[in-house]
Amino acid sequence: MVKSATKYETVIGLEVHVQLQTQSKMFCSCRSDYQAADANTRVCPVCLGLPGTLPVINRKAVEYTIMTGLALNCRIPGFSKFDRKNYPYPDLMKGYQISQYDLPLAVEGFLELDAPEGTMDSERRRIGITRVHLEEDVAKLQHHLSDPSDSYSLVDVNRSGVPLMEVVSEPDMRSPEEAREYLMTLHSILQYLGVSTGNMQDGSFRCDANISIRPEGSEEFGTRSEVKNMNSFRSVFQALQFEVDRQRKVVEGGGKVVQETRGWVEERSVTVSQRSKEQAHDYRYFPEPDLPPLSIDGAWVEEIRGRLPELAAQRRERFVRQFAIPDYDAALLTNSKGMADFFEETVVKKQSSGADSAPAPQEFAKSASNWILGDLSRLMNLDNGDVAGLKVTPAHLAELIDLVEDGSISVTMAKTVLEDAFSSGDSPVKIVKEKGYTQISDSDSVKPAVAEAIAANPKAVADYMGGKDTATRFLVGQVMKITKGQAKPELVNQLVVSMLDDLKENA
Ligand SMILES: [Zn+2]
Repeated sequence: MVKSATKYETVIGLEVHVQLQTQSKMFCSCRSDYQAADANTRVCPVCLGLPGTLPVINRKAVEYTIMTGLALNCRIPGFSKFDRKNYPYPDLMKGYQISQYDLPLAVEGFLELDAPEGTMDSERRRIGITRVHLEEDVAKLQHHLSDPSDSYSLVDVNRSGVPLMEVVSEPDMRSPEEAREYLMTLHSILQYLGVSTGNMQDGSFRCDANISIRPEGSEEFGTRSEVKNMNSFRSVFQALQFEVDRQRKVVEGGGKVVQETRGWVEERSVTVSQRSKEQAHDYRYFPEPDLPPLSIDGAWVEEIRGRLPELAAQRRERFVRQFAIPDYDAALLTNSKGMADFFEETVVKKQSSGADSAPAPQEFAKSASNWILGDLSRLMNLDNGDVAGLKVTPAHLAELIDLVEDGSISVTMAKTVLEDAFSSGDSPVKIVKEKGYTQISDSDSVKPAVAEAIAANPKAVADYMGGKDTATRFLVGQVMKITKGQAKPELVNQLVVSMLDDLKENA
């Protein structure tokens, strides 16, 4: 193999398919929540593709697509139309898919990525959005091939005709990291807009990636491969990393990258060739004769623009301004709409309760943010990582923070109480009462434990006498252990130091 000193630049463009959360399907009145339904129960002559049926455009799906286009800074042309994309496959009931070819609903936008950590805001990256268009999803095939003498495939038509929006980016990303960030940002925008569940596992948010490499400084694009079958942010990232490496090895070995479609095989962490350029489909697009072209009213577009909700980036800025939490924390909180809502509700709950002992609102917000990003996130990650369906509520968290603030329980105890509330859904006040978690804050009750710890640890005592002040930390830990975390840490610290100093004087 020839070792070359050539440095390569990675070029990535992404195509994301998003199922829209409308009540009915794209061209018929079947309900679109097919996931929960038994196979082939959300079907009608239209989405079955029976002859003689006519499609009707779902207005809400068009609205959601325009809304997404606006959130992605796109231009919304006044004229749009649907086209037929022809190809034969058993998951396609009509033998063609209604999609959009040359006149999509939204064009020429961009999405802004955060500046890399440690750099200026001016280094934010803009990723071009080529287009956002609307089409229909296809049926779902279930292959049973393990027994060669009895292999068969089942088809579930429920998904056929579910509104599917495609967001196509420019080839503006330069690393797998950047591609992952683009995806997460796009995902967050869609969730804030409320146009899709964005669930990657169930296929509501699917990504195909075009990737190539070229010598650094070159203007020309290298030959690209298209990678499919990735169903998590992590698998997109890993598949792209694998492709960068594979293509570099091909080129450095004197070979040429071929234009092809490759599939990501999760179990083996590799991409494998599925289809070369020669086998690429010719879709023979032509305007859909069963649907009128769409004339998009400018007033309607402006009305939709006026309804755009606050998105993650704006909410993050507001959190910093309103609650004085660090920008980094605000970014983590607002990445997921659910988490940002949880945080804001916690703070609002507090403000409306108006208790006397209440800490300053900003201090309270900081605590809430710390609990959510720390212990609550840890518990959530052990579970399914989702805020939706949590048993512990913002009201519970507000209560927990109050219990710590007014000295009823220590932070250590609060962690245990939160774990309990997380799994039981009981209120922290109830848990503290029932389990008898109270903080011991009178000296006379703590002193015996301090004396016990000092008597049991002569080495630490000797260290302290020898001038090693940090030895107190170990002793405080021992006292906390003896009191099962119930002693007030500040008090323990005070008592340990004063008792040790007494010993020193009397030595
Ligand atoms: Zn139908």
